[in-house]
Amino acid sequence: MATATKPVARPKIQQTECFIGGRWTPAQSGKTFETHNPATEELIARVAEGDAADIDAAVKAARKQFDGGEWSRMDARDRGKLIYKLADLIESELDELAALESLDNGKPIRDSRAADLPLTIDALRYYAGYADKIHGQTIPVRGPYFTYTRKEPVGVVGQIIPWNFPMLMVAWKWGPALATGCTIVMKPAEQTPLTCLRMARLAQKAGIPDGVINVVPGYGPSAGAALVKHPGVDKVAFTGSTEVGKIIMRDAAASMKRVTLELGGKSPNIVFEDCDLNAAVAGAHFGLYFNQGQCCCAGSRLFVQEKIHDKFVEQIMAINKSRKLGDPLDPETEQGPQVNKEQFDKILGYIESGKQQGAQCLTGGGRHGDKGFYVQPTLFTGVKDEMKIAQEEIFGPVMSILKFKDLDEIAARANNTDYGLAAAIWTRDIGKAHSLAAKLRAGTVWINCYDVFDAAAPFGGFKQSGLGRELGEAALSNYTEHKTVTVAL
Ligand code: ADP
Repeated sequence: MATATKPVARPKIQQTECFIGGRWTPAQSGKTFETHNPATEELIARVAEGDAADIDAAVKAARKQFDGGEWSRMDARDRGKLIYKLADLIESELDELAALESLDNGKPIRDSRAADLPLTIDALRYYAGYADKIHGQTIPVRGPYFTYTRKEPVGVVGQIIPWNFPMLMVAWKWGPALATGCTIVMKPAEQTPLTCLRMARLAQKAGIPDGVINVVPGYGPSAGAALVKHPGVDKVAFTGSTEVGKIIMRDAAASMKRVTLELGGKSPNIVFEDCDLNAAVAGAHFGLYFNQGQCCCAGSRLFVQEKIHDKFVEQIMAINKSRKLGDPLDPETEQGPQVNKEQFDKILGYIESGKQQGAQCLTGGGRHGDKGFYVQPTLFTGVKDEMKIAQEEIFGPVMSILKFKDLDEIAARANNTDYGLAAAIWTRDIGKAHSLAAKLRAGTVWINCYDVFDAAAPFGGFKQSGLGRELGEAALSNYTEHKTVTVAL
């Protein structure tokens, strides 16, 4: 494209209030919070700071819509049509939405356009197609009875999402909830509320009835916790840190809400000496540095077999040295800033700890520039399993390379973590790849690729990386109750 190298225009900020029952309203307290551009640290907008009172109003609107049945009992094919329409409207505003996402989150516009937006649209279309394919079974039982099951929407769902893929997380959550006939109260992350609010406007424009989707921006311990504890909410779906996931599980227990959690990770990426080295280097680089390292499934424990270790490291160093950091709205930019100062400081703390614990820092190791929350692409070698940088989720552009000798040791080392979100294996030996894939305690295993996401492929964690699966057919069961009906014949 001729215009591809010019920075894109700054998007308009249109929605900054709560969206409740189809109306835009300020927070009842009148409070607002600020959302900043992480590239410049400047204020983008003040956004309504919802709290328990606004959550209550939103839950009531969602409850009224659900119990009234306009959405939940709508002909399923018509419901599907409206979800398709939402996807179409997002597609028609793709450039504007991509720019808004990059402005609020700091991710490079090339990534918002090529990944976040297309995946968002795809997920909504995938679930739109499911709306009229959700059905129960007839079941042969003993005696003169006829038994069948119905899959009914679980009800009002509270959805809490993080800031790393703001729009995409909306689609992962809304898609299956809408398809099954649930109604929604969403709390977007306080760092990145803007695209979620814009999507709510588009949902209304698509004709999705008022009260089906409600959005209350605000902070976690106030708005988020109120949503999880609200007795009018039937189910909570959360994506975020393991620490907050545990709080949510506890809070939801009081009223036995259904809970699905997509949490943190410390994913092993295992590179064998018989791999296609260039592909493995490119894949491992992408698997860690994509989205400024702010991915729950980042390949942050990179195990490289001894024989190819030095060559592998050299190639990663070369890519890091030529990586373009800059304005997220510039299509040339490959790496933007971290989302905010808190994340930036946390990452720099981990880099310090890596240095202090004796890992070798071969590229980066500090801040980039003097404005915005940019962290240099950092590479550590000589990392040992017990070091903090090999144990804890850094959520930043910090690669840790650990050496390994042979196949026998690697499954145990890879599994030696409380997390179990994803893993990857690079080898030309397909038998070895499949037998190791079976041993890894992770919800997703990529072989000779990384971060390959598809709306149809379930995603979620073993162990402390979560509960339940998002995407695919699997996610529909998060949003349905099975009802058994038995008739005497
Ligand atoms: P991160 O570390 O990626 O910022 P968090 O787990 O802190 O992730 O936040 C993810 C989402 O959870 C955000 O929308 C945040 O506001 C929300 N949140 C944080 N604390 C709570 C809480 N106690 N109850 C409900 N939601 C919360």
